[in-house]
Amino acid sequence: MSQMPVNQPVPQHEVIEVDHHASGVKCDGGNGVLGHPAVYYAFDGKPTVTCLYCDRIFVRK
Ligand SMILES: [Zn+2]
Repeated sequence: MSQMPVNQPVPQHEVIEVDHHASGVKCDGGNGVLGHPAVYYAFDGKPTVTCLYCDRIFVRK
């Protein structure tokens, strides 16, 4: 028996849409406490990438 929990808290990860032509994204965490050194992620054929620093999720439109 497996029941799916219905009231799971939603992770507060910011989702950022980027142009579908983009081959990658740069993330520096934005301003404030989530800021981190600028890093670049390539989509590499995937529809999304997740920043390892701030857990932002980048989605190609
Ligand atoms: Zn980031």
